Amino acid sequence: MGESRARKDMTESSVLTGSCLCGGIRYRAEGPLSLVARCHCIFCRKQSGAEFATNGSVETEHFKLLSGESLLRSFESSPGEMRLFCGQCGSSIFKRSETKPNLIRLRLGCLDTDFDQRIEFRVFTSRKLGISEITEDIPSFDTVPTAETSDSGSN
Ligand SMILES: [Zn+2]
Ligand SMILES: [Zn+2]
Repeated sequence: MGESRARKDMTESSVLTGSCLCGGIRYRAEGPLSLVARCHCIFCRKQSGAEFATNGSVETEHFKLLSGESLLRSFESSPGEMRLFCGQCGSSIFKRSETKPNLIRLRLGCLDTDFDQRIEFRVFTSRKLGISEITEDIPSFDTVPTAETSDSGSN
């Protein structure tokens, strides 16, 4: 699938840009994204107003806010977990965790550039709405993957 069309060359320097709904907040990030996941947790659902959020991480040093810093608001959804959003239009932009200061967890629905990476897994399917059907053939987890990725910040 997809092999027939020219794929973007996803190198370490792939540039992603994103913005909020009102356009006040704009950012630039360098991919590739890590831990790209669909998250059905209650926090992502409530904040996005959607069935689930799709999130991916970049290194903090590879993220740059281009405009709208004064519009950024944060909500601490659980201790040390800060969800950043636009105070003017409400778009969810990214999340930061005190335990992972080196990572920015982007809310990928706000990207303006597309990305050519696979969704790696689904998390918090135990919290999904009944209407959310799991049809993709990717690993799904009731909460988060265990072992080495347990601290992935996948929500
Ligand atoms: Zn906005
Ligand atoms: Zn989540």
